[in-house]
Amino acid sequence: MATPLMNGRTLGAVETCPAETREILHSATCGAELTFEQGLVLATAEGPALEALVAFADRLRRETVGDAITYVVNRNINFTNVCFVGCSFCGFGRGPGAPDAYSLSFDEVVRRAREAWDRGATEVCVQGGLPRDLDGFFYRDLLRAIKHAIPGMHVHAFSPMEIDYGVTKTGMALRDYLLMMKDEGLGSIPGTAAEILDDRVRKELSPNKLPGARWVEIITAAHELGIPTTSTMMYGHVEEPADWVVRHMLLLRAIQKRTGGFTEFVPLGFIHENTRLYRHGGARPGAKREEHLRVHALARVLLHGAIKNLQVSWVKLGFEVSLACLQAGANDFSGTLMEESISKAAGATFGEYVSPEEFRARIRSIGRVPAERTTTYKIRRLFDDPKLDPRPTAARLPMVREESHVPYTEGAY
Ligand code: SF4
Repeated sequence: MATPLMNGRTLGAVETCPAETREILHSATCGAELTFEQGLVLATAEGPALEALVAFADRLRRETVGDAITYVVNRNINFTNVCFVGCSFCGFGRGPGAPDAYSLSFDEVVRRAREAWDRGATEVCVQGGLPRDLDGFFYRDLLRAIKHAIPGMHVHAFSPMEIDYGVTKTGMALRDYLLMMKDEGLGSIPGTAAEILDDRVRKELSPNKLPGARWVEIITAAHELGIPTTSTMMYGHVEEPADWVVRHMLLLRAIQKRTGGFTEFVPLGFIHENTRLYRHGGARPGAKREEHLRVHALARVLLHGAIKNLQVSWVKLGFEVSLACLQAGANDFSGTLMEESISKAAGATFGEYVSPEEFRARIRSIGRVPAERTTTYKIRRLFDDPKLDPRPTAARLPMVREESHVPYTEGAY
């Protein structure tokens, strides 16, 4: 029988796909929360099963969040690439003596934040490497400097790895540290450093990184204190596509049901070119188009009823695959960025900045409606009539010298 979720293209694709997939999608139609075993079946979908999953996820997206594709006008500020952690998948971190090591002054970070504000940005996303000699209150003071200069700017900053480092350096309790950061104006925390939340995989990727349980503890504590976070997953490297990906998503679903603090889920395809992990033969060279579609569609279905917003990372996927994923369950195009050093350093070639005008044109090219949002998904403006679009204003920001990376070389640490 056709239901609102099962009509037209969706019904056709689901009815002609293998019986096992069909039954799972039918049970999802009835509002059932999918199990690990059902997730595993969808995580290996190919051919007609994958087509059905993609069509179903797209339909589920429409029923859940409608036809708007949101984006945020923001700027990334990666304040240093000096880092001792040495994650094997990272092409960004450098030892302090590397020829292209850099650290931005507070004044320079504030200058960039102000420049972004003047061009219409509502958010700065601030993250960096972890230098050994970092002052315990560095993150607080950097946050304070930005908020003092531009009180209206949403500061989305400091991954759980950085929060953990700040806690260790200051000797404060986690809760007190987070409360201090909230009082200083921290708006939200990027849910990066999650990679795959399984310690066997994390040991292969980065033995020095915080354990999965600590990531969960920090994220949960932030949510309980009213600090929202994003959630992420890096795929396309050493993980088994089915097993760990499904476990990771189900763990995020369980956290969200407890706290409600995730604003979105962001699958991050592994960028392999300039990384040790790939060069030494330890990883696949990232995901192919099919896997990107499968991961995004799976996320929409598995996280249904928990995390509403599913973001594509255009910096990692490029526009063609991003638009395909936005028709496979995703509903958010992420940010204009105005600079993005981390993916670029790992070998991504999709650029550092896209203007709001270009976002809107690309969104309309697939028949959807652009909407600018805040970091926490309040709609600032729906662009449902192209004739009423504002005139282009945001000139491309020049890249500064420190962020011209040389490719990864042996011995950079
Ligand atoms: S991913 Fe982050 S923590 Fe790991 S080496 Fe790169 S900059 Fe350092």
